Amino acid sequence: MLGTKRVHQDWPGLIEAYRRWLPVSSATPVITLREGATPLIPAPCVAERIGKGVRVFLKYDGLNPTGSFKDRGMTMAISKAREAGSEAVICASTGNTSAAAAAYARRGGMRAFVLIPDGYVAQGKLAQALLYGAEVIAIKGNFDKALAIVQEVANQYPITLVNSVNPYRLQGQKTAAFEVIDALGEAPDWLCIPVGNAGNISAYWMGFNEYRQAGRSRRLPRMMGFQAAGSAPLVLGHSVEHPDTIATAIRIGNPVNRDNALRVRSESNGDFMAVTDAEIIEAYKLLGSGEGVFCEPASAASVAGLLKRRDEVPAGATVVCVLTGNGLKDPSTAIEHNDARFHTGLEADTATVARVMGF
Ligand SMILES: *Cc1c(COP(=O)(O)O)cnc(C)c1O
Repeated sequence: MLGTKRVHQDWPGLIEAYRRWLPVSSATPVITLREGATPLIPAPCVAERIGKGVRVFLKYDGLNPTGSFKDRGMTMAISKAREAGSEAVICASTGNTSAAAAAYARRGGMRAFVLIPDGYVAQGKLAQALLYGAEVIAIKGNFDKALAIVQEVANQYPITLVNSVNPYRLQGQKTAAFEVIDALGEAPDWLCIPVGNAGNISAYWMGFNEYRQAGRSRRLPRMMGFQAAGSAPLVLGHSVEHPDTIATAIRIGNPVNRDNALRVRSESNGDFMAVTDAEIIEAYKLLGSGEGVFCEPASAASVAGLLKRRDEVPAGATVVCVLTGNGLKDPSTAIEHNDARFHTGLEADTATVARVMGF
């Protein structure tokens, strides 16, 4: 029960907290920014829309050091790269992987090269990669193309690939499932999660299984994966050549962890489903103005999906929706899509302000 009992100051980062569950040894240099131990926040507004006494929680992984769950995988991948003597890492990224790779690589004294699809990375994420000191290479092509290139580069040159084909990434990411069980005392009935490359859904499933085998929980959740309608290869059953969605973090047409994802679906009696950009934005706004939680558009796909499948949620069930990234990553989407009243250009006097306030 580490996650619930420790105050934040004492949290050593997820490798130390879950060391016995991870492939590390005393020879592994632990590169950490004290990631993990993110809150599980009750979501009464979402729960109210489902009714039936259902409890909904948000696993807010946007509170990791670089603002997304990618830090969980990156602390492992970078520590293991350092252990192996690597001096540089490379990744393809829709933004969050590059931010995390850059931060952890630099902290570990390594160079970081990141390939991004030019023009399709949210501004905050690009800012992070630059500020953390990565070498950013923007290509005229989408994520899938960028991934193919970095895989070739990593095969031909002495550089470590830190995309989620790197098995240490999933090892680190599985700790989120441990934290969910540590906080709830049991696995949820449903886990709702956005799916891009399907690394995270695979990692959660691994974590839930390991904890159950060790007697830390008695059941396994149904794994409900949600993709954006314009980039839903797992729903369609085939790759999507030109993926398109406002949720850029899951704008992926050819998921590298496809086989894992299909296995998770069948083993957990789960499902994949597409949610439209309009449904994603509605959930995004509900989370912000109803729950006070600001996540990325991609993250809101988990809640959009839950609401879409509300009729199937069993009465009294406990549901966890994974909020994969922080809303501050992508301020332009928030400024464009909100229901706020924003009064601008007013004279600086009390009477004017009171009048627009409705007094
Ligand atoms: C990477 C990412 C995803 C998708 O995770 P996969 O492991 O690729 O399925 C979802 N949301 C955000 C915010 C991400 O950064």
